[in-house]
Amino acid sequence: MDNYDAIVVGAGFSGLYMLHRLREAGLSARVYEVGNDVGGVWYWNRYPGARCDVESIYYNFTFSKELLQDWTWSSRYAEQPEILSYLNHVADRFDLRRDVQFRTRVVSAHFDEAVGKWRVRTDDGREVTAKYFISGVGCLSSSSTPAFKGLEQFGGAQYHTGTWPHQPVSFAGKRVGVIGTGSSGVQAIPQIAAQAEHLYVFQRTAQYSTPAANHPYDRAYVDGVKANYPALHATVLKSWGGTTTRPRGDRSAFEDSEVQRLQRYEQAWTEGGWMHGLYKDLVTDASANETVCEFIRGKIREIVKDPKIAAKLTPTYLYGVKRPVMDTGYFETYNRDNVTLVDVKADPIANFTPTGLRTRDAEYPLDAVVFATGYDAMTGALFKIDIRGRDGVTLRDKWADGERIRTYLGLATAGFPNMFTITGPQSPSVLSNMVWSIEQHVEWIDACIRHMEANGIGVIEAKPQSEEAWSKHCHEVADATLFPKGESWYNGSNVEGKKMSFPIYLAGISVYRDICDRVAANAYDGFLQA
Ligand code: FAD
Ligand code: NAP
Repeated sequence: MDNYDAIVVGAGFSGLYMLHRLREAGLSARVYEVGNDVGGVWYWNRYPGARCDVESIYYNFTFSKELLQDWTWSSRYAEQPEILSYLNHVADRFDLRRDVQFRTRVVSAHFDEAVGKWRVRTDDGREVTAKYFISGVGCLSSSSTPAFKGLEQFGGAQYHTGTWPHQPVSFAGKRVGVIGTGSSGVQAIPQIAAQAEHLYVFQRTAQYSTPAANHPYDRAYVDGVKANYPALHATVLKSWGGTTTRPRGDRSAFEDSEVQRLQRYEQAWTEGGWMHGLYKDLVTDASANETVCEFIRGKIREIVKDPKIAAKLTPTYLYGVKRPVMDTGYFETYNRDNVTLVDVKADPIANFTPTGLRTRDAEYPLDAVVFATGYDAMTGALFKIDIRGRDGVTLRDKWADGERIRTYLGLATAGFPNMFTITGPQSPSVLSNMVWSIEQHVEWIDACIRHMEANGIGVIEAKPQSEEAWSKHCHEVADATLFPKGESWYNGSNVEGKKMSFPIYLAGISVYRDICDRVAANAYDGFLQA
């Protein structure tokens, strides 16, 4: 049986960088990846319109000055093929592929207390051992397709945005249904509408979306960014979310007059980007939040010509309690003659038929259906692996299927020694620029492992009281905001039957980084080490 110092699961941003750091530390590592190649999210999500919504200049690694200099993004929000090329470039530049085993799923990881190692099994029937077990499985990698009645008899083509085919898909001359209007649906819908004979959008919850205002980068601008990257990096590390695109407002929405506020919203709408950071209380005070909601609702009414369709597209909940969305021509798409919006809250999906989809009140003939129905987020990919810590306890049971997530710093969980979760639940993860959060986690894990190796430590493990305190703190921070008040994948409500305790640390990346650094500086305070 092969033995490694570390096993890493996943070859997206997380797994690739983790591998690089482990190698630099002189350790042996093996990465397992289900896909045929590197890229993670950007390998799988090839749907039309897929692109990042954190500006490209921030959505890259910063650990290598040379890498920063030799890669040039072409536009403000790079499209999927370009981001995938970037990740391939990283893999080539650091010769990473030779330690990645593709087309291989990790099915179980059991901590063997007798030898203090993880026994990791893969779907090719092999088992390996390793001192460290590191998850880079991704927060949004386990796609979710609801169990619609009759789907198995549907004769048309089926796609999920998160597992899109590698061959080009043409919707020309086709009647297409898109189910779901989250970030993926909102990006794909305008592009599919431009091709399809007819597009039916099945919307359960209307979406606040603001323009991305994407544009090609001016070469001089990018050169300027590259020349000043260290300063930019230092500024961003002090930010809440990991970019300087729109720093968090320092005053209340009500400190401005209505006229000033509307001017501010109007300017932000034109510049493009999310709006929930414009004032400091938009994410904490429902009445402040309502001012931005009403502004966006007004925009929807302005853009969408048919008032009945506009009304269906107008959200009523608070802005930002679902992950904010950015678009390119989303609401405008509903002015097209070949697009029909179906409100499936008012007229629920009943079942698929061999030739289409039936709601309670109507039937829609379809040649293809696109599931933009999202992910079993945060815990889905972790729970697909049979992870067992001390005494054979499964992670799934320990976290009560996600209802009782307990971690220390979002990096480790008691009873699961030498296991680390990159951008795991209870870290800033999905509410930050994830690439920089990944870098921070990987570097913290790397430093922790080096500390262990240098000091002859066999096992490191979160203390139960540390994780209780951290989990309590996470919830207190979240409960002071509006985020947990919505129905979204943040709390699992997009997946039938799922309930997840709010899984994101919301104090911001700067506060979080300081806490993690302090723990490391205090000889990994809060961890048991033996
Ligand atoms: P992933 O990229 O999800 O990679 C995880 C990999 O692990 C996958 O390739 C998967 O196949 C593999 N894997 C999982 N389980 C197993 C197993 N058991 N065995 C073997 N392999 C396994 N974040 C931002 O900050 N900005 C953005 O603009 C942004 N855009 C996004 C757009 C889309 C369409 C999606 C879905 C997410 C987006 N995200 C964005 C979030 C995104 O998850 C992160 O930015 C980042 O790509 C995560 O990298 P990762 O390596 O942690 O995980
Ligand atoms: P999502 O935000 O969870 O959206 C899923 C959509 O499917 C929602 O509209 C949901 O409706 C709908 N849905 C789910 N089950 C349904 C059912 N049974 N019947 C009808 N509708 C159903 O998923 P996503 O759009 O894939 O995005 C997930 C996350 O990935 C994003 O929030 C973001 O973090 C990331 N992402 C980023 C980008 C980007 O711009 N860079 C692009 C794509 C994804 P309800 O709202 O009613 O649940």
